[in-house]
Amino acid sequence: MARFTLPRDVYYGKGTLEVLKTLKGKKAIVVVGGGSMKRFGFLDRAVDYLKEAGMEVQLFENVEPDPSVETVMRGAKAMQEFQPDWIVAMGGGSPIDAAKAMWAFYEYPETTFEDLITPFNFPELRQKAKFAAIPSTSGTATEVTAFSVITDYEKGIKYPLADFNITPDVAIVDPVIAETMPEKLTAHTGMDALTHAIEAYVSTLNSPFTDPLAIKAIQMVFEYLPASYQKDMSAREQMHYAQCLAGMAFSNALLGIVHSMAHKTGAAFSTGHIPHGCANAIYLPYVIQYNAKDETAKKRYADIAREAGLTGANDDELVKALCDKIDAYNVKLSIPKTLKEFGINEDEFKEKVAAIAELAVGDACTGSNPRAITPAEMEKLLNCTYYGTEVDF
Ligand code: FE
Repeated sequence: MARFTLPRDVYYGKGTLEVLKTLKGKKAIVVVGGGSMKRFGFLDRAVDYLKEAGMEVQLFENVEPDPSVETVMRGAKAMQEFQPDWIVAMGGGSPIDAAKAMWAFYEYPETTFEDLITPFNFPELRQKAKFAAIPSTSGTATEVTAFSVITDYEKGIKYPLADFNITPDVAIVDPVIAETMPEKLTAHTGMDALTHAIEAYVSTLNSPFTDPLAIKAIQMVFEYLPASYQKDMSAREQMHYAQCLAGMAFSNALLGIVHSMAHKTGAAFSTGHIPHGCANAIYLPYVIQYNAKDETAKKRYADIAREAGLTGANDDELVKALCDKIDAYNVKLSIPKTLKEFGINEDEFKEKVAAIAELAVGDACTGSNPRAITPAEMEKLLNCTYYGTEVDF
């Protein structure tokens, strides 16, 4: 049985934050990150609106990037003491992801991460609280997805949580909040959104329900990302919606090996973190070349190319045109073409690539990729992304 799940309500448009005034409840806890929401005044505004709704409000601040198990447990404890009937998570992906996990531990204090990591195995939430998510970046779309990633720093592992129970009840997609994104973040999160939509469209779990969302998101990213990057705020508004559509698609169709590779290389090298969206942008054209060796996937990529207004005499030419277009966008957005250009040390890369390949094949996103991959093939593919060589296998 297939299932397609979205938030009950998606509010969108400038100033939509105000809808918090209309939530019905007694107590709300607001979960936020490191301070930008506070600095720009959005946190105060959210708190005021919730008070106007007649709610008692408590804050849970300072959720770190890549939120930890400890933060989740602290948040869950705060919720158990305060007993909110609304959890309002606001900011980049991290506070929203953290709040989703806090929600599960708030309602089920006896549960464990080991219980929760089995995909689609959550206990029934909404026994105590409902969940509203307000994104401040235009990329992860966690405001509409069934996913959350929590890091156990002690064990050095990431728990990817996946269950429709943690799809928020309310998403507030207010483009004014995304206006504060710096340039680089706009570029990276925008390419993350493009990757979500493309991977969802070619995923083995693609469906008539997710396809239109993915295609529209791809068209909008191609149309609006360069101007959004140049700080055109009406383009940025459209990007905020495009990433949300992409999120609706991939929450239901899942992703592929671009994400597997980004997950396992992001923190792998001593030269520093590769931002998630930047890694996706680098890998995407190489993965398209790899996946397009599968006939069904090739047709799907050719569909995308046609819907993006590209032309070609046959599917091979269309796939090539799509890769060229992504390359051109990366150039426009100052995203490097290879891991070498990104600044990863060659000796370190060679030393680690086999182990990374193995981990990437085991990533939760590999299962829905349209073409199967072995660790040896993954190693070859990663080599292509390091040196910028053609994918001919
Ligand atoms: Fe992503």
